[in-house]
Amino acid sequence: MASVLRSFRAIAPIRRAAVAPKPVAFARAFSVSSIRPAGHGPPQLLGPGAKAGEVPTDEQQSTGIERFELLGKLEGVDVFDMKPLEITRLGTVDDPIAVYSLFPERQVGCTGFPADSHDTIWLNVNHELKNHRCPECGSVYTLNFQGDEALLHGDGHHH
Ligand SMILES: [Zn+2]
Repeated sequence: MASVLRSFRAIAPIRRAAVAPKPVAFARAFSVSSIRPAGHGPPQLLGPGAKAGEVPTDEQQSTGIERFELLGKLEGVDVFDMKPLEITRLGTVDDPIAVYSLFPERQVGCTGFPADSHDTIWLNVNHELKNHRCPECGSVYTLNFQGDEALLHGDGHHH
């Protein structure tokens, strides 16, 4: 999961403009036909691809976690929850700022308190360490993991 989230961040700045709002009817038909349960394992996040002679759009060719985000956007869901955290205080070791997450790890951009006190410092807040401290302002964050417990046990191949 760590590498997946990192690669997501890497592609974010070059995200193309193909996520412009589409008619609702299209979005529904699209997502219903595009996430196919594969029996075992995660949904197949593969697009149909472009027709011969056409340039593929993101809807047609994006895959994996990028596609997951795109499908969410078409339905009006920000799957990565990119809203800023509401920071009303500096986190401390005794009372860290809890970061809600459905994944065992989240990238948190700290700007100190009050917000924007310092340049954004990206912290990799994960479940392996209880406290994660910003090296700039010392604010302490902790992961409030609310996702599937199975995600906490390695790569899911232990039986
Ligand atoms: Zn900070």
